[in-house]
Amino acid sequence: MTQAVIVVGAGPVGLGAALELARFGVPTVALEARDRPSGHPKTRNFNTRTMEIARGWGTLVYHRFRSVDTPPGWKSPIRFFDTVTGREFGSIDSRGFAGPGPSVSPALPVMSSQDLLESIQRDAARATGLVDLRFGHRVTHVERGMADADADAAVRVTTSGGETYELTGAAIVAADGVDSFVRSCVGAELEGPQSIHHFVNCYFHAPLEQHVADRTGVLLYVANPDAYGVLQPLDAAGRWLCQITVGADDWDRERWPAQRVVDWVRAARRCRRRRGGRTQCRDLADERHRRRPVAWV
Ligand SMILES: Cc1cc2nc3c(=O)[nH]c(=O)nc-3n(C[C@H](O)[C@H](O)[C@H](O)COP(=O)(O)OP(=O)(O)OC[C@H]3O[C@@H](n4cnc5c(N)ncnc54)[C@H](O)[C@@H]3O)c2cc1C
Repeated sequence: MTQAVIVVGAGPVGLGAALELARFGVPTVALEARDRPSGHPKTRNFNTRTMEIARGWGTLVYHRFRSVDTPPGWKSPIRFFDTVTGREFGSIDSRGFAGPGPSVSPALPVMSSQDLLESIQRDAARATGLVDLRFGHRVTHVERGMADADADAAVRVTTSGGETYELTGAAIVAADGVDSFVRSCVGAELEGPQSIHHFVNCYFHAPLEQHVADRTGVLLYVANPDAYGVLQPLDAAGRWLCQITVGADDWDRERWPAQRVVDWVRAARRCRRRRGGRTQCRDLADERHRRRPVAWV
């Protein structure tokens, strides 16, 4: 049997890599540091190209993704208000989220949220029978696989129960997010400005749709003397994300409880190297999103 590839990180990129390898009959061991899925709705958009790739994971998987797509009217425009029930300053058409249409691609993009998209990927990965998905398994060392001369790859893993073990594989896929530990091991760090803006993401449930009424959109910017941020409708059925710009020093755990809030930093970093020996670094071309260490569970 083919030696398994080690995938570090079971976010959308790691799960996508595992599914893609399974499509070619390659088994993977996907190691995820968290004990359970995060539940935070980070990534919103699986674009047309991503959905073309997802079609290769099976018709059922493709249609499950499509089933969590935001309803019509909530992908465009981007609107600017003083309050969502108040004065509208203007709007920008954002029909790109609807995809280029059937003359370009048979696949349709999906605007949803990472918690739902990831859960569909997890089900699909398990259904292949080729993905060994391990939660609570953190990679702490890359032992082999960083040099071209290495015949295989190996990582050291610590479980949330405190056990450690070595795992060998044919290669490593570094899908451990923007602050990738594996990336740093192969010398493929991100370069560029570390922080341009600081944001707090507040995820909440409220029937705001009835107040928005016919002024639907994909991003609803609000700016007034008391508040500045952007409301993102996640499903047009009461799930919302509010992204609030804050000063770097304004992070306050009492005010922003960890269950619903994640802070993040917009950066402008890029990676010069993607590969080192048997190690591939993967991401969603989203190196500008940098997560600061927070107690998100
Ligand atoms: C608060 C926040 C809001 C965001 N909002 C948006 C948005 O609105 N729209 C958008 O498109 N994008 C958004 N992003 C960016 C989005 O999160 C990323 O594009 C996406 O998560 C990248 O997917 P990924 O699989 O590369 O990384 P992640 O989703 O970060 O997954 C990486 C995984 O690797 C695991 N891991 C890390 N280290 C190890 C290790 N040593 N061993 C094992 N596992 C490890 C982590 O636990 C994690 O589950 C946001 C990001 C944050 C933090």
